[in-house]
Order: sequence, then C-alpha cells, then structure tokens
Amino acid sequence: MTPKRIFCIGKNYEAHVRELAGTAPEEPIVFMKPSSCLVLPGTPVRVPTHGSLLHHEAEAVLLIGREASRVDEESALDCVSDVALGLDLTLRDVQGSLKKKGHPWELSKAFEQSAPLGPLVPVSKIRDLAQLEFSCSVNGELRQQGNTQDMMFSIPYLIRYLSHIWRLQAGDLIFTGTPAGVGPLVVGDTASLSGPELASSVWEFC
Ligand code: MG
Repeated sequence: MTPKRIFCIGKNYEAHVRELAGTAPEEPIVFMKPSSCLVLPGTPVRVPTHGSLLHHEAEAVLLIGREASRVDEESALDCVSDVALGLDLTLRDVQGSLKKKGHPWELSKAFEQSAPLGPLVPVSKIRDLAQLEFSCSVNGELRQQGNTQDMMFSIPYLIRYLSHIWRLQAGDLIFTGTPAGVGPLVVGDTASLSGPELASSVWEFC
C-alpha cells in the first residue's frame, strides 16, 4: 500500500511529558510528517546537520486500511489494518527553540528520513492493541520500554479525534506517541525496535 499521510501524536504518555518537564495536554497534540520521510529498516539514516541533539522516540504506529470519517470510539479500530513500530526522530534542540518562538515544528520533526518505520504486522495477529508492548535499544542498551495501556489518549480516542478533522484514508499512518526514555542518537549509533508481538527492525545512523 502506498503511504499517504503521517499523523503524529505528541505528549501521549505521562512519564514522557514529565521527563521533558511539559504539561499534559487536554486534547491530543497532532502534527504531521510528509510520507517521503519514511525509512525502511536497513537503510542508513543520516543524522541531520541543522541541529545538534537528535532524539529517538519509539512509537506504536497504526496503518489505516479503509476510509474512516467521523467514527465513534466503539467502531474506531475497524479501520486499522496493520501495526508497526517506528521512530519519530526529533531534533530536540531545534524543537525547543521553535517552541519558544511559537513557530511550527516541521524543522525539528519533519526533516528528511525523520520517520523510520518497521515491518507492518496485520492487526489480526495482535492480541490486544490496548496492551501492546514495545521497546527501543541503542547500541544494544535498552532505552525505552512502552505499553499502549499507558497512553493518555487511547488508540480508539485518537482515531475518533482525527477522523472528525480529516477523512482518514487507506494508507494513512498514525504515530501514536512515545513513552519515557527518549535520548540522543549520534553518528555510528544503531537503534533497534522490537516487541513480543511485532517484528524487530534496526537502523544505523551515519
Ligand atoms: Mg513522538
């Protein structure tokens, strides 16, 4: 399936909001990345040079398999066809200065190769999307451990919310937010994503 849009949710895990000394949002924080930012496993990722602090944000990612417009939470999951793990790569120093100026986040979030995406797993193979475990290691050291049960806005809530603003289409991806443990990536690092029910993937940073 050709990827269409990439929706991303910010500040969706309380412990991550605390580690960045932020405040919990009252409604989901939504931003987007162009689908040209996607990077498949095994493709080297160039560390961007317009900032100095690249962070990994490991996230559960949903693939929308059929159109969904103004759905309710009860039927929200019907439009999800696959699940993957991905990295919402973030230039944290650039994001900090953009936030201070009240400017859009694209320079810090939507740069080239900012969305590594692991293999898609059919949602039918997942026991419970509301209890999906995943982790991120860098150079073999565990950095992030997440479980979708800790989201502040659940997956059905996010789909209902987005579908009332956009007509979700087959091929849309939703990065659902990162748990605590975000940290730096530098040239020479290897980041891997895995989960008991999800396929593992690895990226090298150059
Ligand atoms: Mg994120």
